[in-house]
Amino acid sequence: MERRKKVVRAVCIILACLMALTLIAPVAATVFAEDQTPADKLEQAKQELEAIENEIDEIESSKEAAQKSKAYYEELANAVKTQIEAQNNLITAQQESINQKQKELEAKITEVESTQALFDARMKTMYVQHNRSSLSVLLGVTSFAEALRYIQNLQYIAQSDTDLINTLRTQKEELDAQIAELDAELAELKQQKADLEAQKQQYVNSVTAANNQISAAEAELEVKSEEEKELQAKYQQAYQEWVAWASDTSGSSVILDEGEFYWPVPGYYRISSDYGVGRWIYGVYDVHRGLDIPAPAGTPIYAAFGGVVSTKAHWSYGTCVKISHGGGMVTIYGHMSARAAGIADGVTVTKGQLIGYVGSTGNSTGNHLHFELDINGSPTSARPYLDPEIEAALHY
Ligand SMILES: [Zn+2]
Repeated sequence: MERRKKVVRAVCIILACLMALTLIAPVAATVFAEDQTPADKLEQAKQELEAIENEIDEIESSKEAAQKSKAYYEELANAVKTQIEAQNNLITAQQESINQKQKELEAKITEVESTQALFDARMKTMYVQHNRSSLSVLLGVTSFAEALRYIQNLQYIAQSDTDLINTLRTQKEELDAQIAELDAELAELKQQKADLEAQKQQYVNSVTAANNQISAAEAELEVKSEEEKELQAKYQQAYQEWVAWASDTSGSSVILDEGEFYWPVPGYYRISSDYGVGRWIYGVYDVHRGLDIPAPAGTPIYAAFGGVVSTKAHWSYGTCVKISHGGGMVTIYGHMSARAAGIADGVTVTKGQLIGYVGSTGNSTGNHLHFELDINGSPTSARPYLDPEIEAALHY
């Protein structure tokens, strides 16, 4: 008796140490340490898988951010593109105005030149005629006054010709000035366009940077999802090993003392089917493997003793919890309506901890708890492990 209690205490200490080790196990480790138990390995594999899933989530969000940034800069680049097109139209119109003025200028130059040529020719003619026939002209005029008027007329014609040329030249200079002004405006429009082009280039660069970020994220995701697959396989492997380990019934003597069990459904002591009672189930004669304790659906079910949880069982148990206590001892709680929160494969529970609720799942005809004790894989009566007062209270 005393020895058994010491063994239980030692097992508890070891379990506590294992749990502590699990908590401080490095997340990034890729190789299982040799002294790790299958439960440690399973926990480590789970943490590694969670870590990579977190990494993948982070990369996904950075990719999403890059996609948003890309859309933002694409919109800005398109807006600037529209502005540049408008600017191009302004430049074309300005260029047309300049061409128009240029034509006017050329026409004016031609006009000045031809007018000048005409006047030069007239002056030359008049001069020659004057020299050749001034005498005859003078002789023709009847008075000195008339001769004087003639000379004045000649001077008047020369003067008005000069005035006309000067006017044309002034007009040409005005055209020159207008063209210079239009050229300056054109240069300004072109500068504005260059500024817009530079802005557009910045936005295009930002789009390129976002694209690079997206590509990098996608490449990283590819690598990480490969790693994730490996870790999933590793987790599956660790899980299989853990299942084999948790249900290992070989060797080892009973470590529990008599009267150690906590009654899983306090307040309910009626037994509808006792352990070892023969009965026909679906045409097959079978010996009942546990105690059936009727209780209302939803009645809390507590662990009879501490150990490691497994949820895998034959379908007939319905929603089920198995607790490996070590030393080949396993308690089974069948037909649950639901398991308690946090009760899952590999979870360590303590004696008296809430593990689920009464139901009628699996091969069951009414709400009850099927409470079973297996030792080394064989069903065994749980009665010797119950508190003697509880055991005495059980009745049909
Ligand atoms: Zn049963």
